[in-house]
Amino acid sequence: MLEIKSLCKDYDFAVLRDVNITLPDTGFVGIIGESGSGKSTLLKCIGLLESITCGEIIYDDISLTAISSLKRDKIRGRIFSYIPQEPSLIEDESVDKGLSYFCEDSARRREVLEMLKIQDKAQELARNLSGGERGRVAIAIALLRGAPVFLCDEITSGLDEDNARLVYRLLKDISAQRLVICVGHDAKLLRAFCDR
Ligand code: ADP
Ligand code: MG
Repeated sequence: MLEIKSLCKDYDFAVLRDVNITLPDTGFVGIIGESGSGKSTLLKCIGLLESITCGEIIYDDISLTAISSLKRDKIRGRIFSYIPQEPSLIEDESVDKGLSYFCEDSARRREVLEMLKIQDKAQELARNLSGGERGRVAIAIALLRGAPVFLCDEITSGLDEDNARLVYRLLKDISAQRLVICVGHDAKLLRAFCDR
């Protein structure tokens, strides 16, 4: 269970005020809101990539905000995979080579690429991929890393509706076994997929 309690985040001004959310271990959660409303900030705070001004983030009864920053740095990657809008990939290496840094088991890599329907891109250089394929490679990395919580920040932006649907469909499938929190600009489409 992931609990966000009385979360506040200030930059020079208040971005998030008293955010309270309790989420189960699996499911597909959508976050929608106007540009500049603080969606990315919220995802980064949840994923321990941004410090918070007040409040608490609790995962499986462990307060992630109360522990030392050293411990937090260690724990972050074991719980969260943050998937940004524009994933950084090693452009001059093949998709499979890029994935091999996260998983040495080639059969497992193939399995994940097949699940994401990009097995035919395994030997393609990352720089030759389309936006939708890049997003799916980023999801593949997250799957291979094995973190139980995926934080997806507008990963369908720049995709046409068919590709956005495909990515959401895959995330929906993944959310049967993990918690997927997804920020989207395409509110109508995202709503069609999320449980909450
Ligand atoms: P959204 O993702 O909903 O478009 P953001 O979370 O990126 O919104 O930003 C929320 C507000 O916080 C915006 O006004 C933005 O300019 C501001 N902001 C975001 N990141 C920073 C930062 N690192 N320093 C200062 N202000 C920031
Ligand atoms: Mg954003």
